[in-house]
Amino acid sequence: MMLISDVLRAVISIGVIGLILGVAIGIASKYLEVKAHPLVQMVYDELPHFNCGACGTPGCMANAEEIVFKNQKLESCKPGNADMRKRIKKLMDDYYKDEENKK
Ligand code: SF4
Repeated sequence: MMLISDVLRAVISIGVIGLILGVAIGIASKYLEVKAHPLVQMVYDELPHFNCGACGTPGCMANAEEIVFKNQKLESCKPGNADMRKRIKKLMDDYYKDEENKK
């Protein structure tokens, strides 16, 4: 027969383990964070964030990477409109112009 103290001990143990793991994951995420390429992040910010996969990638971040690194067409984002494509094209042009000017 379980005593209340056994139940309390189990709850406290699980709570302490959860707290330790939570702190460890928080610290790990801070130090192991992988930052996106700045242009990928900018393109991603302009995409609709539906993560629908209609572009043939697993989601909007993956499509942003395809657009920046693999010349994926902007029309690949089916829910996106002409304004979105225009903004992405402009920010990519501006980014590469800035990069050229830095050389
Ligand atoms: S089609 Fe557009 S909204 Fe859907 S996942 Fe691809 S980039 Fe995101």
